[in-house]
Formats: sequence, structure tokens, C-alpha cells
Amino acid sequence: MKTKNVALVITPPTPHFVGDGFRVHNFIPGDNNYLNMQRMNPFIMLDYNAKYYFPPSKKPKGVGVHPHRGFETVTIAYKGKVAHHDSSGGGGVIGEGDVQWMTAASGVLHKEYHEENFSKAGGDFQMVQLWVNLPAKDKMSPPKYQAIENKAMGKVQLPNKAGEVEVIAGEYEAAKGAARTFTPVYMLNAKLQKGGSAQFSFPANYNTALLVIEGNVVVNNAEKIPTDYFAVFENEGEIFSVKAADDAVVLVLSGEPINEPIAAHGPFVMNTREELIQAFRDFNEGKFGYLED
Ligand code: MN
Repeated sequence: MKTKNVALVITPPTPHFVGDGFRVHNFIPGDNNYLNMQRMNPFIMLDYNAKYYFPPSKKPKGVGVHPHRGFETVTIAYKGKVAHHDSSGGGGVIGEGDVQWMTAASGVLHKEYHEENFSKAGGDFQMVQLWVNLPAKDKMSPPKYQAIENKAMGKVQLPNKAGEVEVIAGEYEAAKGAARTFTPVYMLNAKLQKGGSAQFSFPANYNTALLVIEGNVVVNNAEKIPTDYFAVFENEGEIFSVKAADDAVVLVLSGEPINEPIAAHGPFVMNTREELIQAFRDFNEGKFGYLED
């Protein structure tokens, strides 16, 4: 097997607010001319709320009711708590270490807010939101919701007390992820002690990247990737190593490319322009259901 090298290291882009509750760096599709939805498909959007202190607020901050169709939204909580409700009846609160995996597919309305008590107390907030694309045959399947508590995730202790790898989706060694996915997707949290390292192996053609959540890491003993930076790998070679320069948490993503056209506008990601127009028409006609503000 050959080494998979880093193709690109991306500095956190200038943050912007999504609603009033998420202060995010948008890495995918990004405005950097290097990445777009197709390049990282099935990871078609990645917003990263780097660690940010929200002062106490009586009214929970967040994003009000909005629709999605054609993909899944995955929220990974690293700090703080977030509450979610959708028009198909899915919902709940996730806290540190938990993940919510919402399959919008044919369409839902949802809202995303800071959890009430977190909001009242204030505190550090750190989240990743990913949009995971669906293949054409599944874009209009029924919506569903998977609440993935940290304890449900497969975990692998690394040799030499290097740390552990947590499996949100896919697998790592003998451990399996809790999330059910439509196409092959790996989503792993590597929690490394200073000086510890982990090896990863994915098919050469998979779109692969990592985001440094905490600490600083060195990939393949060559590329330094600092906190909050995003590294994209070449679509060649299979294996790479991540070594922690200090205690580190790294989100590792790899997925089989979905080789289908993308037609995206706002909250809808379909295959054709006609399907996008249909999505707006269905939304305007109330076909995404009802959700109270
Ligand atoms: Mn949303």
C-alpha cells in the first residue's frame, strides 16, 4: 500500500454567523477556489464552529425553521449542547461527544438551537456540521433521525497509550460506527496524547480530509496541521499517519465519491436544476410538513 499525501492545507476562512447561534468557518464548499461540493463529495458542506464563548442568554440562540432536501445533516458536538427538532418528529439534545445524524432526504423542516440550560449559563461552544450527500436513488427516500450518543460509538484504544479512535461512521480496526449510512462513509475522532500517533487506511479514490479540533498534529511525519486547520488528501495512496505534537483531537473524514451531477441552491442539493425547482415548489406548497417556530 502506498502513502496518501496531503494535497492541501486550508487556513480557517473568515467566520460568519449562521442564525445567531453558530459562528462558523466554512471549509466546504469554501470560497478558496480549491474545494467545491464535487471535490469532497459525499461531504458537500462543512461548517466548523471553532471553540467560541457564548455569554449567558435568556433566549436560546440558533437557527429558526428551515427546509432541507437531498442529503443528510450531521452535527458533532465537541463543546456545549445543541437541541434540534424536525417536522418528521425527530429531535433531541446532544451534548459533548454526541452526534446527531438527520437524513433530510425527501424533505424536512428543522430548527437548531443552543440547549436551554447551556444558553442560560453560557459557555464554550464548539461544533462541526457536515452535509453528507445522498445518491440520486435515495434523495427522495423518507426522512429519518439517528441520535448517536458517545457511548454508542465504537472505540479503539491505540497501542502505547497513544490515545483512542472513536468511530461515528464506518469502522476502524475491529470497531464499528453507530451511524447507518447510504454510501460508504468513514467519520472518526482520533483523540491523541502528546507524542501519540494513529494510522489510517482508506481506498485511494475516496475523498479524504481531516480537521484539527484541538492541539497540533503532524501528518506522515511531514505536514504540520495546526488547530482549526483543514487538510485535504490526494486521491492516490491509501495510508497515512497522524502524530500529536500536543494533546490533540482530530476529525478524520473519508467517503466514496458519488459520481453524479450536483445541483445545489441554499438548503437543497439535488442532481438537476429541474429537481431544484421542484424542491422550491414543494416547499412553497407546504409539502415539507409543519414545524412551530
Ligand atoms: Mn439545517
